[in-house]
Amino acid sequence: MKLTRVEGIVIRVTQYAETSLIVNLFTPERGKIGLMLKGARRPKSQLSAIFDFFNLVEVVFYDKEGANLYLGSQATLVSDFPGLVKDLEAYNYAVFGIEVVDKLFPPEEASREGYRYLLEYLTILDSGESARKFELLRASYYLKMLTIAGYQPQFSECIVCHKKENLHKIFFSPLSGGIVCGDCAGNLSELIKMDEGIRRLLLALRSSPLSDFRRFAASTSQIETINRILKDFTVYQSLEIRTLTAER
Ligand SMILES: [Zn+2]
Repeated sequence: MKLTRVEGIVIRVTQYAETSLIVNLFTPERGKIGLMLKGARRPKSQLSAIFDFFNLVEVVFYDKEGANLYLGSQATLVSDFPGLVKDLEAYNYAVFGIEVVDKLFPPEEASREGYRYLLEYLTILDSGESARKFELLRASYYLKMLTIAGYQPQFSECIVCHKKENLHKIFFSPLSGGIVCGDCAGNLSELIKMDEGIRRLLLALRSSPLSDFRRFAASTSQIETINRILKDFTVYQSLEIRTLTAER
């Protein structure tokens, strides 16, 4: 049987039988894969420490075609992101980052771009930086991941009349998944009032590199509106990202 080596981030750990673990990894080449680690919970095994939530690991597994769970052979810890356990706020944002991958990405579908964003997102949160614009970081990360996973909200044009510019009023419709201009808003319910500044910010957060979140300036009320748009979009599109929808 073929042995395959991959790097991946631990997105889920489940105890199995007396001494084993089932670990879900997010990898660049294979997307999300499930690994069975026999004996990982035996006292002398190093594996349960290696396969902790968030950890960046390198594994070798028996690659059997058509399997939905692979048998792990060897594992090495690459990074355990030590900054995350010292900082509750950063930790909570990291949990969100993992949940996005867990809920939005299909199993066994390569996503190098999605992997790169998750790794970069965790690395920034782990760094303990003092300019804490984590809400903008999260928004940027989420908008990118929604796009990759095919759930992109429409901010470029009114979803009803397709007008792109000079919208005299702008609302966001979480149910329709996009912006609505003042002329078309009449018959729609559950709209979130926003403006051109917020629209530009959302478009920029989605399209610019993840590390650019530090360069954006946003007022408290703009951040509140962005959070509400992302949260209500998640609820109305049934995306079930609980770390976001349970937030007050
Ligand atoms: Zn319109």
